[in-house]
Formats: sequence, C-alpha cells, structure tokens
Amino acid sequence: MLRLAVDTADPLQRRLLESMFSTGYSIRRALQSDVRQRARAYWAAAHERARDPAAVRERLGLTRVALEHAAYAHVDKAPHLRRFATKALAMHLADEVWTATERHLFRDASGNTFGMPRIGRWLEFSRLPGRARSHTKPHTWETFRLHGTLAGHRAAYTGSDGRFFQPRRLRSVASDAWWTHDGPLAVVFSGLPDGPLVLPARLPTAPSNQPMLDHHLADPSRWHKIDLVRHRNPFAAGGWDYEAHLMVLTAPYVAPAVAARRQAAAIATAERSAGIDVNVSNLTVASHARGGDLQISRIEPDAGVREQSRRRSRRERRQQRHLDRSRRATNRDQYQLSKRQAKRARRRADAGLPPQEVIPHGPRKARADGKPLQAYRKDLVSKTYRRDRAAHAKAMEAGSRARRDYARELAGALISIHGSRLTVEDCNLTTWARQWGRALAAFSPGTLVAAIEREAARVARHAGAAGGLLRASTQRTALSQRCLCGERVDKVLGDRVHQCFACGLRGDRDAVSATLAAFVVFGDAARSESARVDFDASRGLLSNLTTRTVLGDTRRFTYQGWQDILSESNAHSARDGFFVADPGRTPDQIVVARRIAGTAPYPTPNETGVKRQTTSERAWMRTSMSNNGGLRVPPSWDIS
Ligand SMILES: [Zn+2]
Repeated sequence: MLRLAVDTADPLQRRLLESMFSTGYSIRRALQSDVRQRARAYWAAAHERARDPAAVRERLGLTRVALEHAAYAHVDKAPHLRRFATKALAMHLADEVWTATERHLFRDASGNTFGMPRIGRWLEFSRLPGRARSHTKPHTWETFRLHGTLAGHRAAYTGSDGRFFQPRRLRSVASDAWWTHDGPLAVVFSGLPDGPLVLPARLPTAPSNQPMLDHHLADPSRWHKIDLVRHRNPFAAGGWDYEAHLMVLTAPYVAPAVAARRQAAAIATAERSAGIDVNVSNLTVASHARGGDLQISRIEPDAGVREQSRRRSRRERRQQRHLDRSRRATNRDQYQLSKRQAKRARRRADAGLPPQEVIPHGPRKARADGKPLQAYRKDLVSKTYRRDRAAHAKAMEAGSRARRDYARELAGALISIHGSRLTVEDCNLTTWARQWGRALAAFSPGTLVAAIEREAARVARHAGAAGGLLRASTQRTALSQRCLCGERVDKVLGDRVHQCFACGLRGDRDAVSATLAAFVVFGDAARSESARVDFDASRGLLSNLTTRTVLGDTRRFTYQGWQDILSESNAHSARDGFFVADPGRTPDQIVVARRIAGTAPYPTPNETGVKRQTTSERAWMRTSMSNNGGLRVPPSWDIS
C-alpha cells in the first residue's frame, strides 16, 4: 500500500471533501444505530435463535446484503445526502459496519466475540472506503480513482534545472476525459451533482524515494483500490490532513541495499542460533555458531537518548497538565476543591468574606467506587482544548513513529550479526508496564523485539531457511537462574553479575541469560511451554576457549552500563568499518541553531499539506526544535 498525500489547498475542493466526510459519517452512524437495534433483537429472540439462528438474522436484516439495502434506504430517504455521497460509497460504508457486526455475532479463530458495535464518534471517523477496480472490464472503477501517470507528474513538476520538485500549493488538475488523462496524478471521485472531486496527489521528491515510486506507480494497471483517510492536524486549514491510501497489486518495495543486506546476513549467519534477554532498560543478544564463536551485543540508551526521552516525557507531562487545567476550568462543578483551597474558602467564610471563584484543584467528583459522576466525554471542553489535544496526540504519534523507525534500524544491525534464528523469554510486558511504566516507555523493548521479529522473518524468507523469533516459557527454562554448565545459580533481581561456584563462569547476568536462550530447544515451536535448555550443547560452548573471556568481558556492562554507547558489541567495532553503533540523536546540551529565522510556522518548506499562513498566535508555538524534541521523523508518507 502506498500513502499519497493529497493537496487540499483549493478551498472549493476542500469543502467538498469535508462535506463528503460529514455525509459519510451520517450514513455510518445511521447504519451503526440500525445494527445495534437489530443485534439487540437478535439476542433477545432466544427460542427462535435456538431453532435456526440464520433464519433470525435473515428476518432481522443482520446480513451484509440487508445492511447495504439499509444504506441505500437512508440515502433515498434523505436526499440531501446525495449531494456528497453516491450509492457505491454508501455500500462500502455498510460493508465496513458489517465487518464490525460480524465480529460481534460470530466467534473468531480463538473462540472470542467482540462486544456490541458502538456508534462511532466524529473525531474517530477517519476513513472513506473506496471500491476496488475491475481488472477485466476497462474503465470500471467506482468511487475514488487515481488518474494520470508518474511520467506525466514528473514532467509537470520538473524545474528548469531538471530537478523534480513539489510546490507548497499544487496546481489544480482538470480533464474532460479522465481515462486518457496522462498529466499529473490526481485522486478523482465523480458522480456527485456538484461536479467531480479532484485532489492533486503529492509525491515525495527526494532522489532516494524515486525507485519506490517507480515500483508502485509506473504501471497504472496494477492500481487496485483507494481509501481516503484523514488525520487530525490542528494547524492545517480545516483541521485535517488528507491522504489517499492506494493499494497496488505488487510485492512490497524493498530497497536494493536492504535486500543486499538481508542476503548477506542470511549467508554470513546461516549457522548461528541466538538468544535475547529483554530487560526494562536494555536488551542483550547472544549467539553462537554450532557451539563456538560466542558473540554478544548489548543495546541500551546512551546519555543523549536518555536525556532526550526525559525531556520528551517532561514535555508530555506539561502538555497533559495544561489540558487538565483547561478541562477543570470549563467543568468546575465536576471537581472538588483541593485541601488548601477548601481551607482558604473556610477561612474566608469565617471572616464573612464572599466566596472566591477558583479553578478547583481537587479530585474529580466520583461515586464511592471511583466512577466519575459525569462521564469525561460529557464534559464541556473549549475549542483551544480540542486543538491542543490534537497537537498533543500528533506529537506523541510522531515520537512513537521515530522510535519504531529507530528500532527497525537496530534490528537490521542485530540480525546481520546474530542471524535470524532467535529465542526470547516469553514475558508479559504489560505487567512490567505496571511496575516500571516510565522507564519502560523510555526504552520501549516491546517495539524493539517486534522489529527484531519482523526482520528475522524477512531474512529467513530471503535465505529460504527456517528462522524467526521463538518464545520460550520462563517457568520451564528459568534462564536467569541457570548457568551454562547446567547448575542453578540463584539471583535476585538486584544481582547483576552471574558467578557460578561449580564451573567458575563469571559474566553479566543478562549476557549469560541471553547465551542460555540461544540453547533453548522446542518440542513444538508453537508452544512456549515445550521449551527446554539443551545443557549438553551449552556445556560444549563452555569448553570453547573464548567463551569465558567473552562472557567475563560482559561484566563491564554492569559497571559502566549507563555510560556506554548505544549498541555495545564484541562482534565488530567502528574500526572494523561495520556500523553497528547508532550515532544517537543531537544531545540537548548542544544549542541547535534555528533553521528558520523568526516566525515561519514550519521548519521544512517542502512539507506535505496546505500552505500555512504565519500568524501571530501560531508563531509562538514554534521553536527551532520540531515538536517531538528533535527526534528524526520520517516523512508523513511511507509504505507498509
Ligand atoms: Zn556453571
């Protein structure tokens, strides 16, 4: 799938698009309400259902076809909806509602059902589903279509210096015959009485992105389906950014460099088995090649990254406090006075002074069981509150995207050292989150393990060999409490060094545990409780000459851990020319020069979206750091 930013600078087109979303929302809400009533009737008809459930669903209209007909009926009964929606669009909205209903009515593979479908809310309504094109009949593609060609687009936007560029505001695209249009790319929706919706598509201009565009866009016959998606952006005109999600019938794009790296990793590490030890603040990977050549890598955030995550969480807390203050100010009767405020109010009352109007700082008024008297969603919130909340959500999203991106890079480096056959202890990160919340969020080991899992599967597929990440039950293996020689070495969580009295092995606790994980074998790979450690093999590694030195060396992780560079590995060093360590982000202590002087609202001139005016009230929100604290953020489009 390819995410294409669409240009909504033309106010007429933007208003048409906004009306389409609001009409789509009305139709969907009506259908969701229908479905809820029908589902209630279905569950109430116990006897009839026991005899023949399918017949009851048929009678009540709980089928895909009946729901589509309900959508047509809504559009027919409310002619104003026809201005901004076609029947095809209504049908696809009905199909989406039906998918949620199916999950409620029928059990999934694991035997679970979902709750009653609820009526969606406006701010959560983000997608207008489109219809797939027909690949047998020509010119058959209803709802959203993509017209134009990649070559035509590049030709239209090539400067006199031969460079491909995209201006802030794209030219509007028009055509009498869309099917033969070979100019710039545009998303088109026709069949509305007010004329077609035409949204110019915006392509990334960086040279490194061009092969990916060629891969997806060069052959128009492979374009299959477009959904129109919107994201809240409080700084965009109209408050939303719009994207066209184009499904292309082709293999996902893999850059040649990435393919080559995977190929090389698959060959170089074909013999290796690896184990991973996950911790709240670090991650250790150890691998061996047939009982020899032990290699260990340690990933942990360095000082710059930790400082950055500390700053980010402080900023998030500040934004959260700001939002909370705003909510309290507009919903004063839902909060109690704080102790100090109450005391002051009493003192004033005793002195005969009139009560003072304050923003209450106490807890929310709630029942004895802690449930608020008024649901939060019924609170009155200001326009500024909504805007700030959207900005906050956007910043958080950008942060997590940067973390995911970074995890992907690290995973690639780790797999090229340790290979694609990995075992990790099956631990539940949600229980960790309860205990370690903030530290865990700063390091996000879950994101890293997920990235390793994906990368391992891809490398294994490349090699055509068995591989991937397996999960071993902690109860069966107790990796942190055993030694390579098979003896039990009890440690509490505070003991960071492993020291075995039977064989004399010494090393960092996590490094030993990761090494043992590399020797886990499974009776059945799908069942984590079938895991056990193959101590015969691990004793073989112990008798290898270098093993004790390598593990002994890892004790410095314990002593210097925090001061270390991001990725510590005995496999390669920077001198070997192998780039394992990430240089880290720009630390905060260094003053970063403003990239733009004064009050321009956005740091990058070729950013997607509409042109933004510089206004005084927006200017103060901008600083030289982007709002995720200087973390590198990938462009707003990518392939997934
Ligand atoms: Zn031992």
